[in-house]
Amino acid sequence: MGGMLTGIKVAMLGGDAREAILLEELLRQGAEVQACGLPEVPGGGGYACYDDPRATVRGVRVVILPVPGVNSEGRIHAPGSQQPLYFNQELAEAIPAGTLVLVGVARPLLKEMATAGGWQLVETADRDEMAILNSIPTAEGALMLAMQELPITLHGSRAFVLGLGRTGFTLARMLAGVGALVTVVDRGAADRARAYAEGWRAVAFTDLAGVIGEADVIFNTVPAQVLTASVLAATSPGVLIIDLASAPGGTDFAAATAMKRRAMLAPGLPGKVAPRTAGLILARLYPTLILECLERL
Ligand code: NAP
Repeated sequence: MGGMLTGIKVAMLGGDAREAILLEELLRQGAEVQACGLPEVPGGGGYACYDDPRATVRGVRVVILPVPGVNSEGRIHAPGSQQPLYFNQELAEAIPAGTLVLVGVARPLLKEMATAGGWQLVETADRDEMAILNSIPTAEGALMLAMQELPITLHGSRAFVLGLGRTGFTLARMLAGVGALVTVVDRGAADRARAYAEGWRAVAFTDLAGVIGEADVIFNTVPAQVLTASVLAATSPGVLIIDLASAPGGTDFAAATAMKRRAMLAPGLPGKVAPRTAGLILARLYPTLILECLERL
């Protein structure tokens, strides 16, 4: 079968429903896939399944790790695997220099191994094309959580979005779409102008403490502590805080608990609320990305 990845050998280590959808697309594009620790692929077949991660990476040009990657103990995200999978030194030594390694988010351990091994490590989750598409299920998941947790409708609620980046923009647009009264808080004058042009109220972080008391719900997308104890002290007692930024988030959670403010960190929403969509996003972007990266080698 012809396809843009014909003749390219790819290893997939771990993964969940998203990577299972990606695997189907890689096969459609002609890749030869060796997999370990993936959930069963619907209508599976056409690829080699291994129990041993080292056997899985033998002879491949590309290694694909799951979106959440490898944790600080070296465990590969593989919820469907019978046994835990580890990215250990032995596995690292089985991956030759020059191998392309794709992962959503790389923690320091994987980065160190990639540098030592001379691999081309590409973190995909922060690439614009990926982050913008993922902002859609993320924003929908954030709205879902708010609807579950709030005693009022989002329609007519005073909703604050901290950070008008890729996630913040999509989220603010969806909130406005359901009739929330949106306030965007951003440090950049150009982004505040963009928010104003969209019809949302725009506020600088320097003015946050003065207006935050109006919020029924606050969505944080800033990966730095912006909801500090002093800002939290100005929020209303009934406020709901949904922190979308990657761990540890942008909220002083200890202070929020002490002040009896409801605050939750909500990581990994695309994979949780819309695994199929999140898988289709991988399937849409990875084949081209693999080709682009291999051309660079
Ligand atoms: P992004 O496009 O880079 O947006 C981040 C926003 O935060 C920008 O507006 C940025 O402002 C602002 N910012 C960064 N540091 C700041 C600081 N010290 N003070 C004030 N503002 C600051 O990122 P994104 O793709 O929207 O992702 C945002 C966060 O959500 C990341 O942590 C990402 O990992 C996470 N995320 C979570 C999920 C989930 O399921 N929970 C899904 C996707 C992403 P400037 O433009 O001025 O830098």
